Amino acid sequence: MGLTDITSRIAAAETAAGRAQGSVRLIAVSKVQPNERVEAVLNAGHRVFGENYVQETQGKWPDWRDRFDGIDGIDGIDGIDGIDGIDLHMIGPLQSNKARQAVQLFDAIHTLDRATLARKLAAQIQEQGRQPQLFVQVNTGDEPQKAGILVDELPGFLSYCAQLDLSPSGLMCIPPEGLDPQPHFAMLRKLAAEHGLPNLSMGMSADFETAIAEGATHIRVGSAIFGARDYS
Ligand SMILES: *Cc1c(COP(=O)(O)O)cnc(C)c1O
Repeated sequence: MGLTDITSRIAAAETAAGRAQGSVRLIAVSKVQPNERVEAVLNAGHRVFGENYVQETQGKWPDWRDRFDGIDGIDGIDGIDGIDGIDLHMIGPLQSNKARQAVQLFDAIHTLDRATLARKLAAQIQEQGRQPQLFVQVNTGDEPQKAGILVDELPGFLSYCAQLDLSPSGLMCIPPEGLDPQPHFAMLRKLAAEHGLPNLSMGMSADFETAIAEGATHIRVGSAIFGARDYS
């Protein structure tokens, strides 16, 4: 299992960047992974996980919450339910018609990327009285096929969120494939600072150390912890 290796690489990257130990939260991305691999990481005491699909999450996490919520992990993380234990992050594209389930299932949603979704999430947050932490996904590479708010549209989108009583705590990005991610991480950091947002969700298996150097507070690491995903 790659968890201990990744944890020590995070600590080294925090030190190299002059940042406090523990300032980066490791989201272990468990989508599509066999249950045994995820349970091994849960049994090792890790409590912060990321998923991409609402349906897959509904199928696996209620049981793991029953078994592991209330059991302190190694990282001292609390979910938003006030119970020590599982902290579950939605990091995949979210359909508006899944907003209800997403607000029920997740402690954080990293993919707030359009006005219709903002409206649905705001309505569900009011109705359920449950407030997942929110990140606005930004399309830093201006890629037409990619989700995310365009950089120019971010100020308007954040004002719209405020009108809906949504207060995102940070920004998230997925840099374009095959390009140096560093300028994208730097841009996200600058945008978050301009808007007074404390959290930065950026960095995956291949580039999390670069992201930590640029100020990431949440890194999303899957294959480097669990091994390659098998989609067959
Ligand atoms: C799958 C996924 C990850 C994890 O990717 P790895 O390369 O396996 O670390 C991180 N972020 C998002 C948005 C993902 O969809």
